[in-house]
Amino acid sequence: MHDIIIMGSGLAGSCLALQLGKMNLDVILLERNEYPACHLPETTTLNIETVANKIGVNYSDIANCFSTQMIASFQQKNSQERMRIEHITDPSKGPFRVDRSQLDSRILALAIEQGVQHNTGVNVQFCNLDEQPRVVFTELGETKSLSAKIIVDATGKSALLGNQLELKSKPVLLDKRDLIFTHFQNYQFYAALEKNSVHIIETSSGYIFMLPLTDDRISVGVVTPSNSKKSEAKEIFDDVVKEIPWISNLVDSSDPVLPYIKAGSESYTLRQSCGVGYFIVGEALGFCDPFYSNGIETSIDSAALACKAITKLQNVEHSSEAILASYNTKINAMQKNAENLTRDWLTHNGLAISTSVIADPHIPYGISHFLASLTNTDFNTDAQKSMLQLRRKFDRQARI
Ligand SMILES: Cc1cc2nc3c(=O)[nH]c(=O)nc-3n(C[C@H](O)[C@H](O)[C@H](O)COP(=O)(O)OP(=O)(O)OC[C@H]3O[C@@H](n4cnc5c(N)ncnc54)[C@H](O)[C@@H]3O)c2cc1C
Repeated sequence: MHDIIIMGSGLAGSCLALQLGKMNLDVILLERNEYPACHLPETTTLNIETVANKIGVNYSDIANCFSTQMIASFQQKNSQERMRIEHITDPSKGPFRVDRSQLDSRILALAIEQGVQHNTGVNVQFCNLDEQPRVVFTELGETKSLSAKIIVDATGKSALLGNQLELKSKPVLLDKRDLIFTHFQNYQFYAALEKNSVHIIETSSGYIFMLPLTDDRISVGVVTPSNSKKSEAKEIFDDVVKEIPWISNLVDSSDPVLPYIKAGSESYTLRQSCGVGYFIVGEALGFCDPFYSNGIETSIDSAALACKAITKLQNVEHSSEAILASYNTKINAMQKNAENLTRDWLTHNGLAISTSVIADPHIPYGISHFLASLTNTDFNTDAQKSMLQLRRKFDRQARI
């Protein structure tokens, strides 16, 4: 029997495995893919030092996984002018673009150095929590099981325990618009856009975003009211893009390297984040559409909280009910915080978008990061001032 089984070796699972490995616990990580999987770059406002401290690694262990980001430009409907925002005045403060593939594999390697066992090609089917916690999985076509004192669900959006224990509920706050996006590889896009930048262009009913992801890949998406008559993602995408000739020309001269993806609202929260014999960390705890870009922070923070709770559980002086209740409370607070920020954002967004297209919850690098970059910019219009108020509120929110 192992001390801890962690299901899923994404960022949350690997961070937790590393921290528990350092406590000399016997930890096994079960991963269904051949990990590390390829991850597109993401954004975080945490600076490198904070990330290193939270995970418990050296700055130099992870520094090369981060690069500074970015310039944003916004173009209003019926205007050729672009409002340009320099994000970075102090590059040490971020926001940062994170090479997720590199960061995840780095942390996983450090966990393995601490004696953590990492088994890939292991697809967990369910957990038995009735007596001794046990996971049942398939490996090379065979069904097997393993038991442990504690099982951790770090399966991301698969939310294995959330589904099995029927803990999932839907948050009520989300925007009903559709987001349709694809990726292009075409040098002409780079000639038209600034490097390390995100571009948002207002349209008659929403906006288009263009977000360079790597040196040769750009994400282009449209956000538009749901249209029940048009179900084909490409058709909806083309219709919106047609409004802006310079983008339409670029799109017409390029072949997408991904299918056109229509993202619906997949948000959920869990009623409970731990119980006797189990903890849940990372995105398996919840997914808040506009906030998916909080995922790095949530993964790191929940892993740190779970590590503390699991360590305390080893110590007979602490009551297990109190430890579980405390984990639940802290995770709830973290999720409420994200929900409140989202609600504020949605409220202000309507105002902001009408006068100057600032951003939108669907934009894939997230409002928290966007807001964090606004302090040093000179804003004068009412919409811009309201963004700054929101930014201040964001600063005041309790953070773990
Ligand atoms: C389009 C998009 C853009 C994003 N952009 C940002 C951003 O800019 N900034 C940011 O902070 N966050 C962003 N996020 C969120 C971030 O990617 C996630 O929150 C984060 O990766 C969650 O980490 P995790 O370890 O919880 O889950 P994951 O990274 O999903 O890891 C879960 C692991 O569990 C494994 N697994 C699942 N089921 C099983 C099973 N049954 N058995 C065994 N293994 C299993 C999976 O293979 C996977 O390796 C974005 C997300 C999306 C979708």
